[in-house]
Amino acid sequence: MDQNTEFVTQHHIKRTLEHLKRNRMNGHYAKDQKDLMEILDELCERKSTVAVGGSMTLKETGVLDWLREEDFEFYDRYAEGLDAAAITAIYRKSFGANYFFTSTNALTEAGELVNIDGNGNRVAAMIYGPDKVIVIAGINKLVKDEAAAYERLRNFAAPSNSVRLNRKTPCAITGQCSNCNSPDRICASYATIRWQTRPDRIHVILVNEILGY
Ligand code: SF4
Repeated sequence: MDQNTEFVTQHHIKRTLEHLKRNRMNGHYAKDQKDLMEILDELCERKSTVAVGGSMTLKETGVLDWLREEDFEFYDRYAEGLDAAAITAIYRKSFGANYFFTSTNALTEAGELVNIDGNGNRVAAMIYGPDKVIVIAGINKLVKDEAAAYERLRNFAAPSNSVRLNRKTPCAITGQCSNCNSPDRICASYATIRWQTRPDRIHVILVNEILGY
């Protein structure tokens, strides 16, 4: 990023962090992945129970490995040898975790988290259940408003995930949403989180890198 775009980006980040605070969520800024890990290290009490939502960002940043290596009880949905019933059981158990780690499909400058989910377990746990929710988002997830968020979700994030998951959906061919009725459709629940009744619950860490979809 050159100095000019960095200057503009920092203003977008500042506004977003202020608006998260206004919406009773906690915004953190990490200039890179090293910074991210230092913030997580401080935020997360050891010996806690932890769970994760499906996320490329958690894989790319090494957060998944960190959760496995540190002194946490990790309800690991990606553990080897799990069948469908065992994974579903972990999804349900995750609602009682001390910490739920996830990314977000988009983060608006108004301080809103916007997501589309297939199973619904990820957005459900973001909304209710775990004591704390740790949202890790690359700068590429930052958008102006809710309309831009859904534009991003429909025409970038969901098609990218359709391709990744080898789904037989129109967007996996065209790269854009046609609001399909495919049995393979990955878009089921659309959720915008605008406010928290418990101001200590959601922490959003905005990382100044391109991460996930
Ligand atoms: S609704 Fe269908 S076409 Fe649109 S993004 Fe979702 S899976 Fe793709």
